Amino acid sequence: MTSIDSLLTETRRFAPDPEFTAGSVAGRELYDRAADDRLAYWADRARELHWHTPFEQVLDWSNPPFARWFADGTLNVAYNCLDRHVLAGYGDRVAIHWEGEPGDSRTLTYGELTAQVKRAANALAALGVGQGDRVAIYLPVVPEAVVAMLAVARLGAIHSVVFGGFSAESLRARIEDAEAKVVITADGGYRKGKVFPLKATVDAALEGETTIEHVLVVKRGGNEVAWTEGRDLWWDDAMADADLDHEAKGFDAENPLFILYTSGTTGKPKGILHTSGGYLTQAAATHHDVFDLHPESDVFWCTADIGWVTGHSYVVYGPLANGATQLMYEGTPDTPHPGRWWELIEKYGVTILYTAPTAIRSFMKLGRQIPQKFDLSSLRLLGSVGEPINPEAWVWYRDVIGGGSTPVVDTWWQTETGAMMISALPGVTTLKPGSAQVPIPGVKIDILSDDGARVDPPNGGLLTVRDPWPSMLRGIWGDPERFVETYWEKFRDDGWRYFAGDGAHVDEDGDIWLLGRIDDVMNVSGHRLSTTEIESALVGNPVVAEAAVVGASDETTGQAVVAFVIVKQSHREEHTDDEFVQLLRAHVAQAIGAIARPRDIYIVTELPKTRSGKIMRRLLRDVAEGRAIGDTTTLADTSVMQIISDKLRSGA
Ligand code: ATP
Ligand code: MG
Repeated sequence: MTSIDSLLTETRRFAPDPEFTAGSVAGRELYDRAADDRLAYWADRARELHWHTPFEQVLDWSNPPFARWFADGTLNVAYNCLDRHVLAGYGDRVAIHWEGEPGDSRTLTYGELTAQVKRAANALAALGVGQGDRVAIYLPVVPEAVVAMLAVARLGAIHSVVFGGFSAESLRARIEDAEAKVVITADGGYRKGKVFPLKATVDAALEGETTIEHVLVVKRGGNEVAWTEGRDLWWDDAMADADLDHEAKGFDAENPLFILYTSGTTGKPKGILHTSGGYLTQAAATHHDVFDLHPESDVFWCTADIGWVTGHSYVVYGPLANGATQLMYEGTPDTPHPGRWWELIEKYGVTILYTAPTAIRSFMKLGRQIPQKFDLSSLRLLGSVGEPINPEAWVWYRDVIGGGSTPVVDTWWQTETGAMMISALPGVTTLKPGSAQVPIPGVKIDILSDDGARVDPPNGGLLTVRDPWPSMLRGIWGDPERFVETYWEKFRDDGWRYFAGDGAHVDEDGDIWLLGRIDDVMNVSGHRLSTTEIESALVGNPVVAEAAVVGASDETTGQAVVAFVIVKQSHREEHTDDEFVQLLRAHVAQAIGAIARPRDIYIVTELPKTRSGKIMRRLLRDVAEGRAIGDTTTLADTSVMQIISDKLRSGA
């Protein structure tokens, strides 16, 4: 491959406010320490945790690409997230403010959460769960989800959280793959004002032969459930019968902590395996540094479902290891009204908000009048994760949600990386809308061409990680060959670099801009164009809320740019679809160049997304090229593809 063309120029800059810098917990010296001695730096960060047995060995890379971090030390992940804070005198600090979709709420202090996890660990042990056993968790965003994850961790067992929106078939596949022994679920949960059944889906998933011995059922929806005597147990009954006390044993730093399947944006999800000491070190350190966490005063809110890696690292492990106070919300952003999130920020005085570009763009689509009805002045820092954030969405986020003054940190990472890898530090970095900017201290990123040569600015190439990092995946569950082949094979002769699957370019200041997935790069008349930049150009037009770009085969240019665009509600009446198409084709040509001008633009009302909210471009490519639509099992709403293909066929 040659390099990817870079077309977008973004000149807006936001230097840190000196007052923010003065009060911030993470300064420039972190980069110096990490540059001085990377392994010593990570060892220091790891020592911020509580170790049952201190480690001597930092990194063992004698059998690449299988890394071992802090391998001769032992720790208990749950103890680090709970008991340690209680013993330090913070038992009365709120760990979780939880709000249910119907408006009910619960508050759990560190003391209460610790007590519940101890009981739950005893309850699971009574069902025969011990070190190394797999427990599937299929729950809504309720406090029991956190209790369940930590109870499994406390026993040295392995959790596999499956997003509550997945079908019986997807759940069954994940249970089978991990050979789980127990499932923890609920009768039902709330979504869009209604109770959706979970237990019934578990029953369907377990039909026929299964490795599952017990199903623990949390009461949440109050809906009727079928019951299999001997297998099924109410969570409350199991908890009531369990002992109060539970001693947290130390486990090896490399003891597996969880398996988690990727979002499935590009195809069949992979069961990513993470272990304990290194994972917790990097989840905690990044949560602390990137969010400038002041645990005594901040109220942190990460809107991710616990079924995604963001929910693992930045709802459960990072915040709790740091003794943070956080908000958890069960429901959808638009129930019962489209201002629900903003109402919650006002109610709980949220200071740090971490969410995804897809959410930001859907709020942009509805208009700023909705958030402007609420007092959002408690917010002092905003974060983004999951997809590239278009510069215009970044600026909207800062202006409308952040009152024009909060830093916005764009954090790049993956299920595989376990924790953030590229992000600004809000007290240090001069921010650039649309750029994830710099590797976090202790991480080394290179942008390479296919043959391993470094790509020079301003062109783009393959995003790779040079050296092992503490929270890196340790494998794909049960498939070491696929692990090597997927992530390492390409650059194994270059000292085993990790290839992330994404494209990126570095600008003259050394800042990194994500260009989308390498598989989505288009080849138009010999120019390699990224989806992200053309999408950002489209979103840069004030009428556009959201855009997805794909390459479709074309007789003259090899591939042609095809765009799918959602117009903001407030602008819908201004033009006909044809006029929007003309206007936007001209806009892209003018903003980033004629080479990127879309051959076709379709005005649509929805885009196909994974259940974690990411645009699934491969499905759009299928419609654009008139093919049968590929695997849609990870799609959030399957009707979307029908609507889009009908629209194309009707020649609109
Ligand atoms: P699959 O691997 O199954 O196709 P997925 O890659 O969507 O699914 P995740 O691990 O949830 O699964 O997502 C990681 C990917 O999300 C990254 O590889 C990248 O493409 C995208 N991503 C995450 N954060 C950012 C960001 N800040 N900027 C740009 N892209 C991001
Ligand atoms: Mg991926």
